[in-house]
Amino acid sequence: MPTGKLHVVPLGGLGEFGMNCMALRSGDDIIVVDAGLMFPEAELLGVDIVVPDISYLTENRQHVRAIVLTHGHEDHIGALPWILSELNVPVWGTEFTLAYVEDKLDEHGLLDNADLREIRPGDRFKIGPFTIHPIPVTHSLVDCVALAIHTPLGVIVHTGDFKVDPTPTDNRLFDLHSFAEYGKDGVLALFQDSTNVERKGYTPSERAVRRKFDEVFARTQRRLFISCFSSSIHRIKLAVDLAWEHGRKVAFVGRSMVSSAEIAEDLGYLDIPDGLLIHPGEIKNFAPEKVCVLISGTQGEPMSALSRAAVDNHKHAKIENGDSVVLSSRIIPGNEKAIYRMIDHLFRRQAHVIYEDGSSPPVHVSGHASQEELKLIINLVKPKFFIPIHGEYRQLKLHAEMAAAMRGSVGSTILIESGDILEFDELGARIAGRVNVGRICIDSGSRTDVVEDLIIKDRRHLSEDGIVLPIIAINKLSGRVETPPEIVTRGFEPGEDGFIVGARQLVMQTLEVSSEEEKADYGVIKEKIRADLKRYISKQMQKRPLIMPVILEI
Ligand SMILES: [Zn+2]
Ligand SMILES: [Zn+2]
Repeated sequence: MPTGKLHVVPLGGLGEFGMNCMALRSGDDIIVVDAGLMFPEAELLGVDIVVPDISYLTENRQHVRAIVLTHGHEDHIGALPWILSELNVPVWGTEFTLAYVEDKLDEHGLLDNADLREIRPGDRFKIGPFTIHPIPVTHSLVDCVALAIHTPLGVIVHTGDFKVDPTPTDNRLFDLHSFAEYGKDGVLALFQDSTNVERKGYTPSERAVRRKFDEVFARTQRRLFISCFSSSIHRIKLAVDLAWEHGRKVAFVGRSMVSSAEIAEDLGYLDIPDGLLIHPGEIKNFAPEKVCVLISGTQGEPMSALSRAAVDNHKHAKIENGDSVVLSSRIIPGNEKAIYRMIDHLFRRQAHVIYEDGSSPPVHVSGHASQEELKLIINLVKPKFFIPIHGEYRQLKLHAEMAAAMRGSVGSTILIESGDILEFDELGARIAGRVNVGRICIDSGSRTDVVEDLIIKDRRHLSEDGIVLPIIAINKLSGRVETPPEIVTRGFEPGEDGFIVGARQLVMQTLEVSSEEEKADYGVIKEKIRADLKRYISKQMQKRPLIMPVILEI
């Protein structure tokens, strides 16, 4: 590309929820801001995560200098294993963000070869022609930054995810002064988080949740279960502090919750007094009113600790009559069914369930800026060009309209989507073409097992490995399995007879060890059968057919 031009190319996150990733190119140098994933919809059986198509980066691999991270949420770092395995470039992030990254890369065996470089909020650093100033912002996670990127054509401000929280629980303040100073000096373009553009007013401070938690701690006579995202460090800290004040021991249940709490404690975001923490196995040794369990699984994920506890199938987390269960998170669209199914199970256990129902004080507050905060930042930054990012199309559009109405603060507003090349030069800015973007489905938690797209995946599965349909007949009234399960296969050679007999036995076994409630919950039981059969078949025949459990109500 000719020098004197700056290209900004979103590879994901504009026009879709998640998968935030944006390339900036000046001359022969490319830097990438964030490398996020998207969680697949529940129907995408067998697909674990969705990551952006990065062919723009691999085609220009000799120019890619670094990935710079704004914060540690999955929709900003989750695609790193996939991208680094294609393109091993330095990764810049704050201390806390890098701790999450290390965990993730370690899981994929990529940590030893990774070049991780720590950002200290406020301290500038240089990559090629770019000088980057990480500005502390507040959000639902800790140690988050916005980026002021000095380019040969002017300063670009990328907000990352943020809300303007005047009273953050960790007392690390949003650096509004820096935004204002850039506004005074002149900013070429502002790229701003659109997630909550539909919300009027201001997003409440993280501290607003404390009143609700206080109330619950004061009222709960028995065990108290609190579930939040494992990355909600503010929330975990609050629960730990209150448990200490109310004389309850704390147990962390669920892998992500345990490792996140460890990182937070190591880095000084969480202070756990000696003797407060107990192992999940010790929960039963304490009186119910002396225990607080922090448990993962707010979204009703079938195999999560809370989902299993809800159907009385967790070794240590037993939920009983009179216990309280707090779901301190938002209900992510698409997960409603799974979440309400789990809440139903909790009600059946006679638990008192507290979830986001719009009542006040809130049990959860958002981590993203509402309209008035978005306007505040625009007013401070006064960009020549305003570009909404992080949102579905309607959110980008509404955000652009909102900014366009602020004539005193914004030069012009540009609406772009993932794949558009936004070009800046001394004459202005325009959309100057497109690059290939899209969604890459990754299977089974690996980083290389790419599913080209779902249809191709199904076709490949069907053509190479065939399909296996375990068919289970369940009596609708009694919940009993009436006849031995049928195993139907197509395009899949089951080999000697023993295979089908074994598969049938395995399904029976899975059903036997499942509780009545799990059996009544077809989503859960299907997933269990699928997982068990997948393991059995890959062990027996080294094949991976498409497995689709079918439940017949009779
Ligand atoms: Zn975030
Ligand atoms: Zn985000």
